[in-house]
Amino acid sequence: MKTPSPLSVLIAGSGAVRAHPTRGGPCYLVTIDGQNLLFDCGRCAVHNLSRFGVPVETISEVFITHLHFDHICDLPLLLLLSWNNGRDRRLPICGPKGIDGFLENGLRKAYVPDIESRVAHGKNRNHLEWDTMEIAKEGLVRESESFTIDTLATKHAGLINYNYRITTPSSRIVITSDSEPDPRLIDFCRGADLLLIECSGTKEFYDTQAWGGWHMTPEYVGHIAREAGVKKVILKHLVIESFSDDPNVSENMAEVVRSLHPEGETLVAEDGMRITV
Ligand SMILES: [Zn+2]
Ligand SMILES: [Zn+2]
Repeated sequence: MKTPSPLSVLIAGSGAVRAHPTRGGPCYLVTIDGQNLLFDCGRCAVHNLSRFGVPVETISEVFITHLHFDHICDLPLLLLLSWNNGRDRRLPICGPKGIDGFLENGLRKAYVPDIESRVAHGKNRNHLEWDTMEIAKEGLVRESESFTIDTLATKHAGLINYNYRITTPSSRIVITSDSEPDPRLIDFCRGADLLLIECSGTKEFYDTQAWGGWHMTPEYVGHIAREAGVKKVILKHLVIESFSDDPNVSENMAEVVRSLHPEGETLVAEDGMRITV
């Protein structure tokens, strides 16, 4: 396998479901040797990619963790806008079973008047197209001469749900989905240079929410990071901020992770944050 130039990661959306003044929904860009790999495409993804200097037509491939709307709502917009802006090749989209139906209904059928009007005015219909690869089971989903991407399926809200790991000869990045605690995440994250992991809230907060069992606590994140020997941990999908008046609520969760895994570095994600691995 060829050694690539350093990987760069852009957090295009550090937030979660609810509208937030400074956080877009889940969206993370990994750039390897000039290829722009997009993981999730949630609320504000298209807007934020533009804000942070990434034209949507330069996205090379898309990987989706699960079909909750906060992770996919901007995907039709990304396809339409990149077509509008001159994309002239099919966009590969990898994700759980159902992603094809989502795009068929949420784009091709939903936007018939728009698409027909643009085609009538000279747009090439074929250039709007995309190729979906619905993941049949966890494991390897992508292999190139400089990197591999594999997945781990974990439980979350009764949905098919995949965590992604990007491996090159010199580095390893894990981007989790939303996930219930799962001890198999330790092996999956082992030796990661960067772990971009959901930490939606604390146990006390989850106890007040019907969906609290779908997510990980800072204590569990710290446990995974320590056992797996992760170098850098970045907390994302910070749902608790939409329910708390405490401006330090996410930083407090990061402190818990730091106390459990002092050998690593732990940060709270911000929109526009860039990391080189
Ligand atoms: Zn989510
Ligand atoms: Zn979710």
